[in-house]
Amino acid sequence: MVQAVDIHKRFDRVEVLKGMSLTVPAGNVTCIIGPSGSGKSTFLRCINHLEKIDAGELYVDGQMVGYEDEGTYLRELRERDIQRRRSKIGMVFQRFNLFPHMTVLQNLIEAPVGVLKESKSVATERALGLLDRVGLSAKVNAYPRTLSGGQQQRVAIARALAMQPKLMLFDEPTSALDPELVGEVLEVMKNLAREGMTMVVVTHEIGFAREVGDDLVFVDDGRILETGNPREMLANPTHPRTQEFLSRIL
Ligand code: ATP
Ligand code: MG
Repeated sequence: MVQAVDIHKRFDRVEVLKGMSLTVPAGNVTCIIGPSGSGKSTFLRCINHLEKIDAGELYVDGQMVGYEDEGTYLRELRERDIQRRRSKIGMVFQRFNLFPHMTVLQNLIEAPVGVLKESKSVATERALGLLDRVGLSAKVNAYPRTLSGGQQQRVAIARALAMQPKLMLFDEPTSALDPELVGEVLEVMKNLAREGMTMVVVTHEIGFAREVGDDLVFVDDGRILETGNPREMLANPTHPRTQEFLSRIL
């Protein structure tokens, strides 16, 4: 589903991604850990067309990110094409970026109606089903500010799913939450994984990585230093930097 080959990305003079290669098969849950500033968010943003890569090749669902292959040459995508491709990728951020002036339901149907041109009734029906899945049927007409952080984040996940994405990216989805609200969001993510969603999850929730992750990736200074089965890697990290990092957070 995701294939990244030797991805390089720089901001001005600073190289932030120094050759990242990663393959995420369909249905796989890959968790990414690593120190602050190591490039985890930047990598997710590249996958989602929010940043342009400087070198390497990046494919999502068989399509080259940012480019259209017209047989003999590659053409850069126009904004409209980028938006179309991005709509297949759901992203959930640390801060719940819900539209504050819209109800929960309006938040969920905005993109399906606006971008996918779905009818309001079809989008609403799916939205109600999704709210049921994340346990928030009672909040259909609530405004985001009246919800707890955990509820807002569950709405954010439902909103991403409303676009029927093939891939879900999570960037530290629970790290802005009060500790007692983390569990309900992880539960929703676990169910999603069980249903077979392909997920790339930047998280420091080691328990989640161990229980749900198929693969664990340790990123440091723009490079993947170690990758493997989460249980094995957490029990026996081989790279000294992984050992050091894990000893600090475990
Ligand atoms: P954290 O754990 O704190 O979220 P991270 O691993 O997600 O960190 P990134 O946000 O990807 O790290 O940032 C990697 C590096 O790139 C940092 O040094 C950051 O300052 C730099 N960076 C990120 N975005 C930009 C930008 N738009 N312009 C310039 N530098 C940037
Ligand atoms: Mg980050």
